[in-house]
Amino acid sequence: MITLADKQPRTVLVTGGNRGIGLACARRFAADGHRVAITYRTAAPEPGSLPDGVLAVRADVTSAADVEAAFNEVEAAFGPVEIVVSNAGITKDTLILRMSEDDFTDVLDANLTGGFRVAKRAVKSMMRQRYGRIVFISSVVGLVGQAGQANYAASKAGLVGLARSLAREFASRNITVNVVAPGPIATDMTDALTDAQRAAMVNGVPAGRIGEADEVAEAVAFLASDGAAYVTGIVVPVDGGLTMGA
Ligand code: NAD
Repeated sequence: MITLADKQPRTVLVTGGNRGIGLACARRFAADGHRVAITYRTAAPEPGSLPDGVLAVRADVTSAADVEAAFNEVEAAFGPVEIVVSNAGITKDTLILRMSEDDFTDVLDANLTGGFRVAKRAVKSMMRQRYGRIVFISSVVGLVGQAGQANYAASKAGLVGLARSLAREFASRNITVNVVAPGPIATDMTDALTDAQRAAMVNGVPAGRIGEADEVAEAVAFLASDGAAYVTGIVVPVDGGLTMGA
């Protein structure tokens, strides 16, 4: 049994951790006493916007070289990365007849191939440590689909297949790979929607409200914990009941 006394600080990397769900995860890991690094894509986070001690490194997950450099920087500062939250993601919504091939492949490249690049680099050091926790941030849209989001849904569904394959490849090395599938969560991503779109979204949520980024971080923290060693290859919806039974 794992007791409180067995819990030890881990090195954590959260991609796209400068805002939204990623920032909520970073805050949660920092509050739990871990060594936390986040990646940002363009502008470095404002001083004071991250908890004390959180390291910010620049990386675009569409570049394997950026991902490699970010891991190297974090590992030089904090030691081998033991927990990775692959959170960076984008949307380029439009109905399929108007969706260009670039709209499709850009979203796949950031959301799915980005997750592949991050996980591939992460497992290198996790294998040596014989310890690792990888959590992909997918979406309920990847499970049930969404009109106008064929690119995004495909990328988020792809993460489930990616995670489950890695879960099988690395289970014997004490590396778990899981997925969190948020429903509508209050972040910049949902702020971009119209009031009507947001209302339609909440309409299908049994809990009757939009979720908070902290509520996603709670599920991530569990999957990343030492105590979740026997939990791998699962999808945890954090969606107020939206996809139950799906
Ligand atoms: P957000 O737009 O606030 O954050 C997205 C983060 O990803 C930002 O930090 C951004 O800089 C980063 N990012 C995007 N493209 C990147 C790239 N190429 N390289 C590096 N970083 C990149 O949105 P959020 O709501 O916090 O989203 C976080 C994750 O949660 C995303 O994967 C999103 O798809 C997923 N999600 C969000 C919701 C929601 O309702 N907000 C629901 C389900 C899933």
